[in-house]
Amino acid sequence: MTRLLTQLLTTFLCGAFSLTVLAQISLTDEERSYLHSKQKITMCIDPAWMPLEKIEKGKHIGMTADYIAILQKKIGVPIELVPTVSWTQSIEYAKARKCDIFSLAMPTEERLTYMDFTRPYLTIPLVLATKMDKFFVVDISKLEGKKLGVVKGYAFGEILRKKFPGLTIVDVDSLYDGLEKVNHGELYGFIGTLVTIGYESQRNFVGEIKIAGKFDEQWQLGVATRNDEPLLKNIFDKAIADISEKQKQDILNQWLSIRYEQVVNYRDLWPWLILSAVVLMFILYRFYVLRKYNEQLQRLTITDNLTQIYNRLKLDAELEQQANLYDRYKQPFSIMIIDIDLFKQVNDRYGHQSGDVVLVEFTQVIKKHIRKTDIFGRWGGEEFMLIIPNTDIHKAMIQAEKLRLLIAKHNFKIVGHLTASFGVAQFDEENNTIKQLISKADRALYQAKDQGRNRVVRL
Ligand code: GH3
Ligand code: MG
Ligand code: MG
Repeated sequence: MTRLLTQLLTTFLCGAFSLTVLAQISLTDEERSYLHSKQKITMCIDPAWMPLEKIEKGKHIGMTADYIAILQKKIGVPIELVPTVSWTQSIEYAKARKCDIFSLAMPTEERLTYMDFTRPYLTIPLVLATKMDKFFVVDISKLEGKKLGVVKGYAFGEILRKKFPGLTIVDVDSLYDGLEKVNHGELYGFIGTLVTIGYESQRNFVGEIKIAGKFDEQWQLGVATRNDEPLLKNIFDKAIADISEKQKQDILNQWLSIRYEQVVNYRDLWPWLILSAVVLMFILYRFYVLRKYNEQLQRLTITDNLTQIYNRLKLDAELEQQANLYDRYKQPFSIMIIDIDLFKQVNDRYGHQSGDVVLVEFTQVIKKHIRKTDIFGRWGGEEFMLIIPNTDIHKAMIQAEKLRLLIAKHNFKIVGHLTASFGVAQFDEENNTIKQLISKADRALYQAKDQGRNRVVRL
């Protein structure tokens, strides 16, 4: 009764009758007259932050709308929404004093230059969302170098950049924009609150986005009030303190337990998620082993057993490949067939096994002196083939001569000195089948032998 009288008296003293401040909380006279002169409190919100808040058809809905309705009753003055299109615009409006309060915000150093912050009325865990195929993140600070998104202007961004200077935190326009970028691989992850990410991913990213990590901090959010009118903070602090636990629980139940059960039950899911990750890793490991076996098998099918260089099968395939490239780009390539001179004598004198050792040493000498792009293989017995891509006969002749000298000068462990003969040919318009090419190189080799061996011949 006394309170009502005081209120009426204040109204009378202020000389205005347009509005009576019928607050449910006890206010000081100063606060009361301040509210009275204000008539209404203007409010900016984040227009796309469901289930926390949203502007739908010009109306404020979501969890904070329920809170603001309660606070409005307690304060006794209308709280009026100033519609904005983005959180960034809301910040601009608050700075320009087009709105007196933010319905829900977190203090940051920068914001404290123009807003005061009340005690929190909502506490929300902050999480990291990634694509389904990413691993769980145990230590967020280990994500150095990976791009992580945060909605532009959100306090998380400012606070996390300070706390984890090693992280690459990029601004995105909205929660949806952030998750979309994660989905397309433009960002490794997106940082936001569990409730909002859960809400959005269930709507637009089912089966594509997961929560991959959790930050230690619980984010405490309250009302932000313009700091050039400090009474506003006191008033809201009193009103928030007056919200009962039951009211809080009711709002939470309405917005989370029923509609977003999966999100709230997330804690129960952890063991299953970890189990799935273990199973997945096991499958990946099996896949890895299998791939290794396949690679080994692949290598075996194209490798000569004795010399470990390519075998005839691979040479045939490479010739085919080079011929195809020639058809397409008219790029000539050359080959040389290399035959060890009088190798039969090596076998006869030192035995077949020593002959084998010589063959291996012979290939090693050649291999050391060819380019990575050259394809060197065993054509059969003591004959070898070198395919030289993108090289005409002149260059091939020079290369063959170098190799011939190299062999002639080399001191083989068992046999001392050895020579080899070279038949060289170019794949071109004249010799444009593999058969013709080989035949030409073969005939050249035959001539080399005929002319006394240890020489390079082209036709
Ligand atoms: P030419 O200068 O005319 O080429 O004389 P050559 O003795 O090298 O030629 P020929 O074709 O008469 O003999 C090739 C020899 O190479 C016969 C064969 O025993 C030997 N040879 C072929 N493959 C192998 C092998 O894998 N190991 C060993 N040790 N010898 C081999
Ligand atoms: Mg031979
Ligand atoms: Mg020979």
